[in-house]
Amino acid sequence: MHHLRRLINIKDSEFMLLSYNILINKTFKKNMQEMNERSTEKKLFELAQDAQKKAYAPYSLFAVGAAIEGISGNFYQGCNVENVSYPVGTCAEAGAISAMINGGDRKIKRILILGSGKNLITPCGACLQRIKEFSDDSTLILLADENGIQKRLKITEMLPYGFANLE
Ligand SMILES: [Zn+2]
Repeated sequence: MHHLRRLINIKDSEFMLLSYNILINKTFKKNMQEMNERSTEKKLFELAQDAQKKAYAPYSLFAVGAAIEGISGNFYQGCNVENVSYPVGTCAEAGAISAMINGGDRKIKRILILGSGKNLITPCGACLQRIKEFSDDSTLILLADENGIQKRLKITEMLPYGFANLE
């Protein structure tokens, strides 16, 4: 440290001030980042709640809402859409991904899934593969119940060996 100070020819008081400024700056940036993350998560949750209210689930009565933050910073929503021919129904995640593609985004930064009832739900196997198609290693899956986000998992944790073109 002494060596470094001598090298850049700086007084003790200046050095302290400089270190202090760097520390404050780092803390400030970290706090700002955390605040942004929290407000993005809040927005995702509200969008998923809004989508969940629009779900078409007359057969299961299990409404699901999903919301995506694309890499562009834009947001997209989806809800489950059931069908009298049960397998024809689609998941909320699929709807949100369609909206994202239609909106011009190609990468999911975060996707939040909100189910009905007391238990957390996770994306089904098919939806994990759908999410993987538009993910990178940092893509997050946020699992929420009516009280808010309860779990944050990476797609790589939920689907470590998903189908992909290996080169
Ligand atoms: Zn699904």
